[in-house]
Amino acid sequence: MRAFYDLLSATDPEVFATLAGEENRQRLGIELIPSENYTYPEVLAALGSVFTNKYSEGYPGRRYYGGQEFTDQIENLARQRACAVFGCEHANVQPLSGSPMNQAVYLGLLEPGDTILAMDLSHGGHLTHGAPVSHMGRLFNFVRYKTNPGDGAIDFDVVRALAREHKPRLVLCGYTSYPRDLDYAAFKAIADEVGAYTMCDASHYAGLVAGGVMRNPFDAGFDVVTTTSHKSLRGPRGGMILCRKALGPAIDKSVFPGLQGGPHMNVIAGIAITLGKALAPEFKVYAAQVLANARRLGAELAGRGVSLITGGTDNHMLVANTQASFGLDGRTAEELLDEAGLTTNKQIIPDDPNPPLRPSGIRLGTPAATTRGMGEAEMVKLAGWIAEVLASPTDAAKRAAVRAEVAQLCGRFPVPGLE
Ligand SMILES: *Cc1c(COP(=O)(O)O)cnc(C)c1O
Repeated sequence: MRAFYDLLSATDPEVFATLAGEENRQRLGIELIPSENYTYPEVLAALGSVFTNKYSEGYPGRRYYGGQEFTDQIENLARQRACAVFGCEHANVQPLSGSPMNQAVYLGLLEPGDTILAMDLSHGGHLTHGAPVSHMGRLFNFVRYKTNPGDGAIDFDVVRALAREHKPRLVLCGYTSYPRDLDYAAFKAIADEVGAYTMCDASHYAGLVAGGVMRNPFDAGFDVVTTTSHKSLRGPRGGMILCRKALGPAIDKSVFPGLQGGPHMNVIAGIAITLGKALAPEFKVYAAQVLANARRLGAELAGRGVSLITGGTDNHMLVANTQASFGLDGRTAEELLDEAGLTTNKQIIPDDPNPPLRPSGIRLGTPAATTRGMGEAEMVKLAGWIAEVLASPTDAAKRAAVRAEVAQLCGRFPVPGLE
């Protein structure tokens, strides 16, 4: 790494300055965006390795270019490890990120115009789950289920009624901003009733599934599970499609040549490393700590009068209604916390009356802080700082004081790869 920095600072100081600035930002602030994490130093090395030089269109044993001896080995290793981590029969590790990963599933299993039953965006679903602004929303007919006002649970009588009425070909669950585990057996029973495929987009919380602290959709007989590799799994930016063996050929054809060209072999090497780590016993400890930290952060915030969507969490994430708790929209809350060295993101809440760029809440998550080694004692501190900063939005001195305390805490918990 050092040699690389010396080279870059000598040859391109302009780019080097941005890299050094970002390193410092990551070092001195606490990352609480639930979709972010600090990847392993080994993964950073894999991303900067010579695997990035290689074109490998096709799949191991069936490539369109020569020289694939080692790319075949690394991709096979990543696929085998993915199946071992998630208990599935087939894995495609080539999707360039989460969005093309989901597109590949829809386009591989369905015809344009088919109906997909998915979670409403403001209730937790992802843009790729058919938001009207996404291209998938133009290609497929998305029908949306919501969560209950009040406890935020999913009402399966409503989901079943929607399925009977609209006859989806795919029942999709999984989310980007919902703090509860899912009843996969209930989704599966409804899908079976109408003859639909079942798909779970576990992008956010796949690390907690891998670590055994959240349910695995395959245990309920799901057809397809998709996940990004860079969120709670701690890997490089990428996507994976996991499925039953019978669907493997259709999924593989959909990723390549259907949607993509050459896979990013440096990323696939990073995914193999990440999955190797996820198979080790230490990862179970990590996943359990991510969950314990999220529960503790939630309980401490609730104790300080912060209103949380669904009242708490079963995963790594919390959605706080800052409008109700502090009279602050999510954008203002995000900016105030940023000033104090705490990085969060503004978040729409169920049926949010406010616009997306000024929504009513923020989203918080513990994967990154837990990667730095922070535990429940640090969550108590964080909750105190968050509540203080949001309770006194005109107090710039308070934010500066918290920022100094945050930097001090960060000194005790270095970012892996940036020690
Ligand atoms: C993050 C996320 C995605 C998209 O991943 P990108 O890599 O940003 O394209 C898809 N689905 C869910 C549920 C996600 O949380």
